[in-house]
Amino acid sequence: MKAKDVVAMIKEKNIRVIDIRYMDFPGTWQHFTVPACEFTESSFEDGFGFDGSSMRAWQNIDNSDMIVVPDSSTAVMDPFFEVPTLAVIGDILDPITHEPYSRDPRYIAKKVEQYVKSTGLADTIYVGPEPEFFIFDNVRYASENNASFYEIDSKEAIWNSDRDEMPNLGYKIRHKHGYFPLPPSDQYQDMRTEMMLTLEDLGIAMECQHHEVATAGQSEIDLRFSSLVKMGDQLAWFKYVLKNVAAKYNHSVTFMPKPLFEDNGSGMHTHLSLWKEGKPLFAGNKYGGVSEMALFAIGGIMHHCKALCAITNPTTNSYKRLVPGFEAPINLAYSSRNRSAAIRIPMYSQNPKAKRIEFRTPDPSCNGYLAFSAMTMAMIDGIQNKMDPGDPMDKNIYDLPPEELAEMGSAPASLEEALDALENDHAFLLKGGVFTKDAIERWIKYKRENEAKEVSRRPHPHEFFLY
Ligand code: GLU
Ligand code: MG
Ligand code: MG
Repeated sequence: MKAKDVVAMIKEKNIRVIDIRYMDFPGTWQHFTVPACEFTESSFEDGFGFDGSSMRAWQNIDNSDMIVVPDSSTAVMDPFFEVPTLAVIGDILDPITHEPYSRDPRYIAKKVEQYVKSTGLADTIYVGPEPEFFIFDNVRYASENNASFYEIDSKEAIWNSDRDEMPNLGYKIRHKHGYFPLPPSDQYQDMRTEMMLTLEDLGIAMECQHHEVATAGQSEIDLRFSSLVKMGDQLAWFKYVLKNVAAKYNHSVTFMPKPLFEDNGSGMHTHLSLWKEGKPLFAGNKYGGVSEMALFAIGGIMHHCKALCAITNPTTNSYKRLVPGFEAPINLAYSSRNRSAAIRIPMYSQNPKAKRIEFRTPDPSCNGYLAFSAMTMAMIDGIQNKMDPGDPMDKNIYDLPPEELAEMGSAPASLEEALDALENDHAFLLKGGVFTKDAIERWIKYKRENEAKEVSRRPHPHEFFLY
């Protein structure tokens, strides 16, 4: 929709409030609401002021004024508010120069799309994420299940998953058997369907919803692929819709990658492909039916994987997921079919248009705009420098002897390690001015000081068991 169409719609539908949203740096949607009388066509140019110093890792108190300028093409009715409300996503600008803000994730994603076009390699980046998440019962988990977060071995975890239903309700999902029993074992069918259909009503195309492997309400809803910036917007809506639908049922959704010890964690496998003039560039006659370009893209992701993780797996909790035995990829290998590899070439369809690579390391705690941007920049760097991904790995990586495993690179073991890797390897992100040096430095500093350090400073519940 154009600005004038949005304004006409506000009048026509007698919409009284407009909710302005934007993504902060770590990846949480922020919002404020203005009455319709404050909202005119010029709002789409002048924007609205806010205090940038109250946003994590953005401005300092002595230079805090910022503006958010709504993007009319994103306007849609919010599905949850009682008063009919139009929601619009905005871009962050400096109030004086009107320049886009270099730490605005959506702006970084826009720059990736421009940069990729400018290289002449491709004109479209398609992104298809599969976010996994847990649905927790607010009452049950608050009162009696806290212990399960810290159990010490899988036997106890199983015992604990029995215990968390008092009285025993039967039909519960067994440890690691959540993929795919029907109700009544799967207790979240209606809730997930409501989530999926609410997203469809917002114009976001969905592919499928299902329970996932882990015991207690782990689920997955897959988005149909879309272009990069649009997918950043859609992932923001996705998290918002899931949390609000769950709240209606007195449940909570968490995108924390590893909420339960000794059970599967939540990943966000991301399907990626490049296109030019309507043609898929990743289809070809190399291994797995992909093109040489796709293999170089894989090479780029593998080469930069440790640094990428600081953006695609950006929380201290992310590294509790990346451990062996839970279907999470740890080793830097690629394969068609093999789900233990960090990069998979899905074989579901032989249609060239369906050819893509699936990067399995990312998790849903990431900021979608930044994560999709960083993955794309790694692929482009791989293509530009013809990075050879080596031989594919078609064995189950979890079964390999330690010597063979050691030869393969692996994902970082902690957020600190990932941030160190990003500090040493980020030139590929600076190309075309996509990420500025300032944005990278601020990210590393914020993550080190506010997350890695703050978590390590706190006594851990497991320390009580040990000591
Ligand atoms: N939950 C697994 C992960 O952490 C993935 C399971 C699947 O293959 O969908 O990546
Ligand atoms: Mg899946
Ligand atoms: Mg899955």
